[in-house]
Amino acid sequence: MTELHRKTVRQLLTDLDNKVFSSVELTRHYLDRIERLDPSLNSYITVLGASALAQAAAMDEARRKGNQPLLAGIPIAHKDIICTQGTKTTAGSRMLDNFIAPYSATLAERLDAAGVVTLGKTNMDEFAMGSSNENSYYGAVHNPWHTDHVPGGSSGGAAASMAAGLCAAATGTDTGGSIRQPAAFCGITGLKPTYGRVSRWGVIAYASSLDQAGPMARTAEDAALLLQAMAGFDARDATSIDQPVPDYMAQINRPVKGLKIGLCQEYFDPGLDPDIKAAVLDAAKTLESRGAIIKDISLPNSQHGIPAYYIIAPAECSANLSRYDGVRFGYRCADPQSIEDLYKRSRSEGLGREVKSRIMVGAFALSSGYYEAYYRKAQQIRRLISQDFANAFTQVDYILGPTTPSPAFKLGEKAGDQVAMYLQDIYTIAVNLAGLPAISVPAGFTKGLPIGMQLIGRHLDEGGLLNVAHQYQLVTDWHNRSPNFGNQQDS
Ligand code: GLN
Repeated sequence: MTELHRKTVRQLLTDLDNKVFSSVELTRHYLDRIERLDPSLNSYITVLGASALAQAAAMDEARRKGNQPLLAGIPIAHKDIICTQGTKTTAGSRMLDNFIAPYSATLAERLDAAGVVTLGKTNMDEFAMGSSNENSYYGAVHNPWHTDHVPGGSSGGAAASMAAGLCAAATGTDTGGSIRQPAAFCGITGLKPTYGRVSRWGVIAYASSLDQAGPMARTAEDAALLLQAMAGFDARDATSIDQPVPDYMAQINRPVKGLKIGLCQEYFDPGLDPDIKAAVLDAAKTLESRGAIIKDISLPNSQHGIPAYYIIAPAECSANLSRYDGVRFGYRCADPQSIEDLYKRSRSEGLGREVKSRIMVGAFALSSGYYEAYYRKAQQIRRLISQDFANAFTQVDYILGPTTPSPAFKLGEKAGDQVAMYLQDIYTIAVNLAGLPAISVPAGFTKGLPIGMQLIGRHLDEGGLLNVAHQYQLVTDWHNRSPNFGNQQDS
């Protein structure tokens, strides 16, 4: 029998409905595991034992009465950038170490309404800036597949806790790859929806034109269930898309026969790990054997994605993070001597090195005289990248490629090399610049570490991406593998 913490959300819902166990029992199981195992992973910043058990009891009651919502009693974790009312919400920063969110993000409200149990808030790179989770004020997170390796970032806590069986599903945010890259590093499924599909209201802003929250789960089917609850129009987010949310569970059962899937030639460059390349080509063969049509395509401007992103995202973050001034909320330095001293020291002491570096780059790129040379140019590249995708999607329905150029690297390995770290997102960043949906799906292993493949789709075609991913998962079992982590303690 599958261990409780290895079951998918789908299986858990069936078991809960069949009274194999209650949500309170399931929640206790997860809370016990977190208490025993998380000290060696550091995937949670806050654990919400009492409120989780209360939510679980309420859902057991709802189930008894037969009026349980979609995800009744499923224990999940929120990335700590998502405001949850009455709970500490830090964005991984000392700046918000004392911040208790006065309201919940729309997506958290919607998941609550769908009946989830919130186990806690997961660790992350400070303000979602990073690819290794080493930029957190709360310390690095370890990858359960190899605890001396990083879990990826910035949603590293979410991915690690999923892979270690410390939650049944999780939320993440993705500005340049932060759902997909950690999902790839930890062997789970992570979906970044179309920009505007999930409300950003109550999600602490990093780069507002790129940020998007999405589900992290064991399977595409589970991601579909979560997205069903999270997605939809929200009048409180001016960039929210006012389109109906389709029935994702109904969409994932379509055959892939006849679908055109593009392999982007630029993605298979010498910088790509040969095992990852082989895994992705193998996945293409698998899909082809199910009737998909594989075609070569080109995204000629893809190599400009990283430079453009590292102007646009810092520019937006320099504006978004100006609110942390030590006055209204957040960290305030001791004994300020003047208002200027208050601003300066609160920000110097409250923010970490990577965040400060980006604020400076962003302020520089937006300053008069440099705006034209950098910011405007980056926006022009952004347009070209969107155009590349639009052209590709006249020839194919989906684009298949690697999620990351390498598997999870060692803790500290890239810490001193900002550019090497930035290159982590070489295959994911352009998707955010174009506002498209994309999913990372487990597709193999190299030296004991998971490999992720990425599928990119047209705007609002989350259902199609989940469909292809689900059909792939029906004939592969990479997503069912689990790390040995915690097994000794379990026996
Ligand atoms: N790694 C990228 C960065 O550091 C993307 C992060 C993200 O998607 N939030 O900005």
